[in-house]
Amino acid sequence: MLGLMQDRPLSLPMLIGRVEQMFPHKRIISAAVAGETTASWGEVCGRARALAEVLERLDVPEEARVGTFVWNNQRHVELYLAVPCTGRVLHTINHRLFSEQIRYIVNDAADDVLFVDRSILDTIWPMVDEFPTVRHIIVLDDGDQTPIPDDPRVLDYEELLAQARPRREDFVVGDEYRAAALCYTSGTTGNPKGVLYSHRSIVLHALLLTMTDTFALGERDVVMPIVPMFHVNAWGLPYAAMVCGADLVLPGPMTIPHALASQMARHRVTFSGAVATIWRGLLPLLEEYDLSALRQLVCGGGAVDEALSEAYQRILGVPMTNAWGMTETSPVVTVSRVATAHDHLTSDQQRRLVGTPGPAVPLTQLRIVDGTGAELPWDGATPGELQAAGATIASAYFGAQPAPEAFTADGWLRTGDVATIDRHGYVRIVDRSKDLVKSGGEWISSVDLENAIMAHPSVVEAAIVGVDDPKWGERPLAYVVPRPGEQVSGDDIREHLRGRVAQWWIPERVEFIGEIPKTATGKFSKQTLRARNHEHPGP
Ligand code: ADP
Repeated sequence: MLGLMQDRPLSLPMLIGRVEQMFPHKRIISAAVAGETTASWGEVCGRARALAEVLERLDVPEEARVGTFVWNNQRHVELYLAVPCTGRVLHTINHRLFSEQIRYIVNDAADDVLFVDRSILDTIWPMVDEFPTVRHIIVLDDGDQTPIPDDPRVLDYEELLAQARPRREDFVVGDEYRAAALCYTSGTTGNPKGVLYSHRSIVLHALLLTMTDTFALGERDVVMPIVPMFHVNAWGLPYAAMVCGADLVLPGPMTIPHALASQMARHRVTFSGAVATIWRGLLPLLEEYDLSALRQLVCGGGAVDEALSEAYQRILGVPMTNAWGMTETSPVVTVSRVATAHDHLTSDQQRRLVGTPGPAVPLTQLRIVDGTGAELPWDGATPGELQAAGATIASAYFGAQPAPEAFTADGWLRTGDVATIDRHGYVRIVDRSKDLVKSGGEWISSVDLENAIMAHPSVVEAAIVGVDDPKWGERPLAYVVPRPGEQVSGDDIREHLRGRVAQWWIPERVEFIGEIPKTATGKFSKQTLRARNHEHPGP
């Protein structure tokens, strides 16, 4: 017997309808080269309705991929609404990737039109002749002075919007399984792979972010996604803000620490999400700006190190919350929190716990398996390959490289991470399987070793890569960035590590560098460090 409840699709028009009806007065504050703008959600939805007409007038077909090279700004939110709500696919693209990867991504997606912030035009324009499927390039003038090419393919966003009569009828997407958005992984292993989100997965993920034990987002929040809107829908934060009617603060291209801290302070931001590199950059400014409105800070995409966690708790009184996820998982799968089972821990232990990935959110399942695929116990000690399943997790890749090996025969996603899970479901990432250092047949967790080194008071950042060793197979090589003006030697680092990690983890080679190279999403680029070691092998 079937249930007798209404069959209403979980699709994005539901979100736009709710915002227009209930929260039209709430705000989107957006930084750009030309300065900051403030618009109401009502105005933004109105402009999205005009944009829907523009897409019709340009004959952008149903299901066409609409590429965006756009910062975190108001116009990007308009695209987030109009493109999927009219049955097209929003394809956000990371302009910081190598040009070869960008070319691959645009062509694999077969984008029909591209929307490009004027300040990003310089990066994209030299490639456009190699995008055979792209018919139009629509420039979003953000006040940057980059010349706009005189080319029939180039159109101006504001002119198109001004000419369009905003669509009056409600948006309808009847099939919640329909594709809504496309985002490529950054291709740290091989070519980037396309992850194609559905309306249903985005709506469910947005709802998950509002839950109390997740990000607890609500109408009173002022949400600032620092994580780029070209990276996994900025962790779904713009859509979650729509669900609950929160204000949205968007940093645009102004991502230097002072600009971020100033925007956060001026708009009384309550919630923000970014990778550790950003949070480390803001550390020296925490006392200079009034950040007292912050209630939760989430550090995702990588581990939270002790120095970071301790400093934020001490200065702001807000713990750094860790979350785990990947492009393939929408991305949020785990969010840490102190549960009743942890009431007996000291406050320092609780702070550290919140800095680990934590338990899976509802609707998602995790498991760890050994090399034969057999499930491993949740004992907090046995490491295994982390696999994920659920309504917000990819089932396959889009495009020319389906990569079936990334999924198990029973349909779980193989994450490529090695993790432990404890009896309360709390995940700890030991490493990415390819970053583990295999020394003398045993594993060294580069994540744990990096965190131990970063706990040294004179160290800003540290990254570990495995290097070939005739005796041990591999040994860890530490790249360390010292605090400006401070003296620290390899012996100091080794001395500091004694007692903090197993003796055999302590790296013989410690190299000091000015900065750890980062990937396009701000993570440590181990690939670059490995290449560097190949070019300058140590003694
Ligand atoms: P890529 O790094 O290939 O661009 P993603 O941006 O999707 O891909 O990153 C996903 C990866 O980031 C995960 O597989 C994991 O290795 C790492 N990661 C994400 N969150 C965490 C976390 N909280 N702790 C440790 N590692 C994490």
